[in-house]
Amino acid sequence: MASVALRNVTKVFGGRRNTVVAVDDLTIRVADGEMVVLVGPSGCGKTTTLRLVAGLDRVTAGHVEIGGCVVDAVAPKDRDVALVFQDYALYPHLTVYGNLAFGLKMRRTPKPEISQRVAEVARLLGIEELQQRKPHELSGGQRQRVAFGRAIVRRPQVFLFDEPLASLDAQLRVKVRLELRRMQRDLGMTSLYVTHDQHEAMALGDRVAVMADGRVQQIGPPEEVFERPANRFVAGFLGTPRMNFLNGALVGAGDSVGFEFAGRRLSLPSRLAARAANRTGERMVLGIRPDRVEMKSVACGVDAEASFPARVLMSETLGDHRNVYAHASDGQEVVAKMSAAFGELAERDVWAAVDLEQAALFEPGEDGANIALESYEVDARDT
Ligand code: ADP
Ligand code: MG
Repeated sequence: MASVALRNVTKVFGGRRNTVVAVDDLTIRVADGEMVVLVGPSGCGKTTTLRLVAGLDRVTAGHVEIGGCVVDAVAPKDRDVALVFQDYALYPHLTVYGNLAFGLKMRRTPKPEISQRVAEVARLLGIEELQQRKPHELSGGQRQRVAFGRAIVRRPQVFLFDEPLASLDAQLRVKVRLELRRMQRDLGMTSLYVTHDQHEAMALGDRVAVMADGRVQQIGPPEEVFERPANRFVAGFLGTPRMNFLNGALVGAGDSVGFEFAGRRLSLPSRLAARAANRTGERMVLGIRPDRVEMKSVACGVDAEASFPARVLMSETLGDHRNVYAHASDGQEVVAKMSAAFGELAERDVWAAVDLEQAALFEPGEDGANIALESYEVDARDT
């Protein structure tokens, strides 16, 4: 297969008055055999990005490359990419075999080769016994497998997936997701995969690109994007419950830098203090994941420099853990992901103890930069 790249791609829709910048100076390179997942909220430009690679829309600026060649002027049918959607788009009057064979027939592939390739793909997808059925005789998961099969049987250079699992129920989604990942690895399918589902993105991607407003906010291996978010948008988008964001200010000097909020001062550990030392006096947002917060009853011994008083409003059990929702004394919300054994604690005063070693510090604003990171390095694979 081939690599695929978008280089400084911008797509503007509309005329003189009503312009929408759907994709804004986007650069991504998917290596041969790699799976990159674009994840972001609805409307952030994911589908448009795929359509630009497929050639269904034309770039306003920048270039699309497939296998190292610029394809801006190449017609969609000559780009040798396969696009798989959520709404399968199977031919209702054809059998599964007919659907799988259709693209090859159109390309005048010899009959024996067609039946051999269809058989191979049907085996790969575990749908051999379904080949004489029509789409309406299949379950949602089976239809989605046929849609994957129809793309794979063509042996394209690049696979483009647009939320292909969105209409499956939660259990099936996880099952088909694992199957897709295994096939993608086994066949070395160069893939650009789009979803709004953070879990799907983390599970499927060799690398994950988090998008907002037509721009890539951060791209990297899933663990890295999760553990070292470049900004507050990325930090808030990945992880459930969402990361806690506490508004406050940096105070102190030298070795003793603190984060002040709700009338208290948390003492920053040396790693954070070093990053924050030259910014004391500035307003900042402390980011802390819910599983790094622990609600302790007042009686227990607490580290006063890493905790603050809070009042529990409610909690919910999710079987294996419990989410505890509380307010700091200034009304800011804080969520803790606790052991299921924690029990009901509504309307109780507690201490929220935070693991500051794992905290992030963001500049103010919805997409404020994470100053706890060393300067964010651009992934070399994308240049
Ligand atoms: P996503 O797939 O991430 O939900 P899209 O790529 O579909 O987002 O859309 C990105 C933005 O571009 C949205 O604001 C959408 O309304 C706009 N858009 C998409 N296609 C068109 C079009 N053909 N004409 C005008 N605006 C469009
Ligand atoms: Mg879309």
